[in-house]
Amino acid sequence: MSNRTLTLNDELYQYLCDHSLREPELLASLREETARDPMARMQIAPEQGQFIALLIKMLGVRNAIEVGTFTGYSALCMALAMPRDGRLVCCDISESWTQVARRYWQTAGVDHKIQLHIAHAQATLERLLKTEGARTFDFAFIDADKENYDSYYELCLRLLRPGGVIMLDNMLWGGRVADVATQDADTRALRALNNKLKDDVRVDISLLPVADGITLVRKR
Ligand code: CA
Repeated sequence: MSNRTLTLNDELYQYLCDHSLREPELLASLREETARDPMARMQIAPEQGQFIALLIKMLGVRNAIEVGTFTGYSALCMALAMPRDGRLVCCDISESWTQVARRYWQTAGVDHKIQLHIAHAQATLERLLKTEGARTFDFAFIDADKENYDSYYELCLRLLRPGGVIMLDNMLWGGRVADVATQDADTRALRALNNKLKDDVRVDISLLPVADGITLVRKR
């Protein structure tokens, strides 16, 4: 028994996966294909994908944003969990990674739900604010370049309806956020955002030790 968050050793992590992961075959194939990419560590953990899908269903998300799509695993989790008329706006700057994504979205039959924008995410989010207006989205998943997280957060917060939720990925950053000796730009950006979120009265928050640390933010 414990009244604080557990530290998962390999055995307990395996138990968690064995007793809760329901990863569909297509998602497993995408994960295997992505594992051959040198940047494979940018992919989310399967238990995190399943958690995002659960949130999408719990919140009844119809209109969502993803900042940082990579080879499309998290977007596929989200699109599969959304209703037929759901819409997911994906932001990425890579044609080659998102080509893999598009192939899997087509195979899954969810490509009609996904609008992929190959451009800097700030530009795409700013355009969405102009064309669709603030308070129009239910959910946003932010998992892109860490130095711009704060700007993605601010833009997504404006795009979100009250009660809408943002999930920020990598907020524990392999533990580096808590190691004062680590002072690279990415770590400092995440640290600054964690500090800001702690006291941000516009939102309710919870930082969960799922995968590399995810912060759930609910717009008030
Ligand atoms: Ca990530």
